Amino acid sequence: MLTQRQTPIPRYSVAGERFRARTGVRRIMQDIEQTLADRNAAGIINLSAGNPLRIAPVAAMWRRFLSAELERETALDEAIGRYGSSRGYFPFIAAVVDCYNEHYGWNITEKNVVITPGSQSGLFYVLNAFCGAQPDGTSRRVCYPQNPDYTGYQGLLWDPAQIVALRPQIELTGEHQFRYGLDIDALADVDDVGCFVLSRPCNPSGNVASDQEMATLMARAEALDVPLVVDGAYGPPFPNLVEVPMSLTFGPHVIHSTSLSKCGLPGERIGILIGDERWIESIEAFQSNACLHSSRLGQLVASQAIATGELERLAGEEIRPLYSRKRALLGEAMRAQMPAHLTWRLHEAHGALFSWLWVEQLPFADGWEAYERLKTEGVLCVPGVAFFQGVPATWRHQHETVRISLTASDEDLVEGVRRIAAAFASP
Ligand code: PLP
Repeated sequence: MLTQRQTPIPRYSVAGERFRARTGVRRIMQDIEQTLADRNAAGIINLSAGNPLRIAPVAAMWRRFLSAELERETALDEAIGRYGSSRGYFPFIAAVVDCYNEHYGWNITEKNVVITPGSQSGLFYVLNAFCGAQPDGTSRRVCYPQNPDYTGYQGLLWDPAQIVALRPQIELTGEHQFRYGLDIDALADVDDVGCFVLSRPCNPSGNVASDQEMATLMARAEALDVPLVVDGAYGPPFPNLVEVPMSLTFGPHVIHSTSLSKCGLPGERIGILIGDERWIESIEAFQSNACLHSSRLGQLVASQAIATGELERLAGEEIRPLYSRKRALLGEAMRAQMPAHLTWRLHEAHGALFSWLWVEQLPFADGWEAYERLKTEGVLCVPGVAFFQGVPATWRHQHETVRISLTASDEDLVEGVRRIAAAFASP
């Protein structure tokens, strides 16, 4: 008989334990939430946010297309009054197919596309479909050829399969500028992987892997007969937060992943995967087991936004110029305010929502200590170390970097830079 009420100890599976864990950037995000919720938070400048800005003309476009669908008598019944295909809502898929064929001269059909609840879940399906334990008893790792890269890749694998992450090549390209390149030579030694994944443009650094680097990656994926997942959450044709020329190539070993989250619809959870029929078919089956299909209201509304070209127009006229301007403002503020005795560089401005700062010989024990120092100065930024995977903890470079979100107001960006400069000038 129990005399005392005992709290049962929850028993989690190995995967359960891993998915529960709050590591890396999740740990920081929790700290940021608590710091901002604190009643003394007034005056703190938040340059850590990953949420895209609300852009009035884009929001107005979504309202317009939603209203038009509500007026159409049968639209809601067709789209949300019944279950649908695990592939996605067909008018939406058709609009996506036409858009990519028209822009990139591809020849894809609806069989090359699957719509997922956000691109995060699409990436979850892909990685778990190809990496981990194999039927022949071997195991395949996932390869992140680009480092740093999106922190959301860190918790994707069901199986405790290992990762291979390549250390970047650092190219100094100006007094206050640098760029990460892929370690193409190291790629040649990577052979036990189930797929390659990189974001292009990259969250957090803003890097856009060059066409040449992409061709090498594609050749490696082809040699191993595994997919190369190109995560274009910030790429063309929408939201198109890209400042440098880049091509998109379709091929039997590439899966393009994109999303409407940075186009004003993050809450609708619309992810798009485009790839060879054989990959897409298996991902559809995976999705059917996981959730039957993604929800369809957002797809209904977005069908016309894509088919009419309106989304793309606004991406070019409103979304990209806004972040471009913010990036330039941040660069100017850095040049005006960073102390002369610091050797600092921003990653080349290729795209995405962030700027990436590297201060050589930053005098903190590690990136987490730098984060705490910034906090005492009243500015929140995500320490760059949270975005590096599979590199030795002792590699200094990762502790000398900071991700700065461009989603703050102009005033906060300028004042935030002043505070970063103050924190790093006198640690
Ligand atoms: N990929 C990258 C590079 C991201 O930055 C994000 C979100 O910020 C995602 C994928 C996931 O986006 P979503 O699931 O909203 O499509």
